[in-house]
Amino acid sequence: MLTDYHVHLRPDDLEATAAIHFTTANAERYQEVAAERGIGALGVSEHVHRFHQALDVWRHPFWVENALDDLDAYCAFVREETTLALGIEVDFVPGREDRLANLLEGRDWDYVIGSIHFLRDAAVDMDGDFDVWRSADPDRVWSRYFGWLGEAARSGLFDVLAHPDLVKVWGAERPRPSGDLRRFYDRAMDGIADSDVAIEVSTAGLRKPVGEIYPAPAFLEMCLEAGCPVALSSDAHVPDELGYGYDQAVELLDSIGVSEIATFDRRARRLEPLG
Ligand SMILES: [Zn+2]
Ligand SMILES: [Zn+2]
Repeated sequence: MLTDYHVHLRPDDLEATAAIHFTTANAERYQEVAAERGIGALGVSEHVHRFHQALDVWRHPFWVENALDDLDAYCAFVREETTLALGIEVDFVPGREDRLANLLEGRDWDYVIGSIHFLRDAAVDMDGDFDVWRSADPDRVWSRYFGWLGEAARSGLFDVLAHPDLVKVWGAERPRPSGDLRRFYDRAMDGIADSDVAIEVSTAGLRKPVGEIYPAPAFLEMCLEAGCPVALSSDAHVPDELGYGYDQAVELLDSIGVSEIATFDRRARRLEPLG
């Protein structure tokens, strides 16, 4: 089994509207490419910040600008007009756990993917006004990032932790801590070990300046020791990115002894043989 659950039906720009992309023809394009590439379980997970309901959770200016679509219309589209699994990618906002739970509750997800893009108002992966790297010290950013990742796991809100070491996204283009990075990973591990969350192995990092799979092998090994299952995804934003770099991901997983990956149905997880 190969899966691709962390998938977007459209690019991240505002011109990529729901009217253009939430269509059966677009869903079929994704399904055709997935079938060609041997992906047996395909789901979509739009960014929460593109739905106006997200503003009940957080009113970051980037969210206010992006929150144009209706979450229930998205859910209805995926359920009624496609055979895709229904997911969502949700930012963990510390202190807003109740509001996040309210947003997720009562909707018929197959899975919920938790992400950390923002540390307070600044983002680890965005150029421009909200770029955390304009001023911050890398050790502090990495410490906070992995501390929050552990809290996200412990919150119990999520079935999967997305791109777990996204903080490395820029590679050498931004400051980066030196030495053994496990001192940062450690900050997430208690929360992860106490949770039942799956760890995403994401090939999206191969398409980013860092040029590496998320997470680093050392982080993944620590999660495996903590008993976490693995979820495999590409974070595709166009059909051609489905299954991107999966040869490398499968090789990595084989090399560290992972033989099963997670599948999801109505928030119930099952492990299937990898490959
Ligand atoms: Zn993300
Ligand atoms: Zn994503």
